[in-house]
Amino acid sequence: MSEPQSEIQHFAKNWQQQLAEAFNNIEDLCHYLHLAPDDLPVSVTATENFPLRVPLSFAACIEKGNPHDPLLRQILPVNEELNAYPGFTHDPVGDLASATQTGVLHKYHGRVLLINIGSCAINCRYCFRRNFPYADLQLSKQKEEAAIQAIQNDATISEVILSGGDPLLLSDARLTRLIQQLANIEHLQRIRIHTRLPIVLPARITDELINTLKLSSKQIVIVIHCNHANEISERVITACNLLKSSGITLFNQAVLLKGVNDNAKVLGELSEQLFSHGIIPYYLHLLDKATGTGHFEVSEQDALELIRQVQTALPGFLVPKLVKEQAGAASKQYVF
Ligand SMILES: *Cc1c(COP(=O)(O)O)cnc(C)c1O
Ligand code: SF4
Repeated sequence: MSEPQSEIQHFAKNWQQQLAEAFNNIEDLCHYLHLAPDDLPVSVTATENFPLRVPLSFAACIEKGNPHDPLLRQILPVNEELNAYPGFTHDPVGDLASATQTGVLHKYHGRVLLINIGSCAINCRYCFRRNFPYADLQLSKQKEEAAIQAIQNDATISEVILSGGDPLLLSDARLTRLIQQLANIEHLQRIRIHTRLPIVLPARITDELINTLKLSSKQIVIVIHCNHANEISERVITACNLLKSSGITLFNQAVLLKGVNDNAKVLGELSEQLFSHGIIPYYLHLLDKATGTGHFEVSEQDALELIRQVQTALPGFLVPKLVKEQAGAASKQYVF
């Protein structure tokens, strides 16, 4: 299907401009998707603390006129977000709020998370970040240097994970400085980047970015975040090919979400599609129980049943590890 002229013009712009033009209100998004807001359970109240934010490149993957589209469900603010669900709290992971003060989160042996930016290109309604006011956190140069010094001083750390928010929202200049500083730390083996941008804003994957990532002699691993095969557009494939062809290893993590991918066929298609583009399924996360996300929960028992079905349908290397986050634990907890 050919794209309308306005979309062709949008996608010709650079990633910063595309991001600036992301949908930020329900009416515009619904109009684009040929949906009537009055027919949907949308909630403006739900956007007060956690706004709607969707780049056109992601919105373009949503089926027009389908109120039950699995991608729409990930980004549309709805009334259910205002419901209280037992066991859902403001900070289920426990420590992310404090980590954004120092920039470093060292919970697992050998690996540290470096958090230097709080914002994302998209606001996923199921995200645990939704309850924190740090959406626009940017670690100061000073704090970032202190964080790097701490990594330098600890020879047990072999891998730094750039996380956030979305670390690829940092400018090329900031990333270049960061990668260079990390490259100088001898005991580091790898730099890992946790990002959803190859999926939701593939224009971010530019030749300049690739050059920046290649500045380092360290191995680069990128863990993308894709929940449904429909998210993998031609633009996404092009971006992932660019990363792959420069020698970067690509993994995917997904979150198991009711009404989005809680179905063995959907999960199977996701694994197949990812792998056909050189991306290895890594984790399937149980939902972090953050206030406002209860309507996305899939019980542990149902999750186990689903992943067993996936296991009988696919080769072992296409079955993601079903995991959950447990505050205080020394690693992710394998459910399966
Ligand atoms: C998830 C996570 C990691 C990475 O864990 P892997 O199992 O290596 O993917 C590292 N540190 C923290 C604090 C995490 O939450
Ligand atoms: S991309 Fe990840 S961190 Fe950002 S809003 Fe979505 S789930 Fe949250």
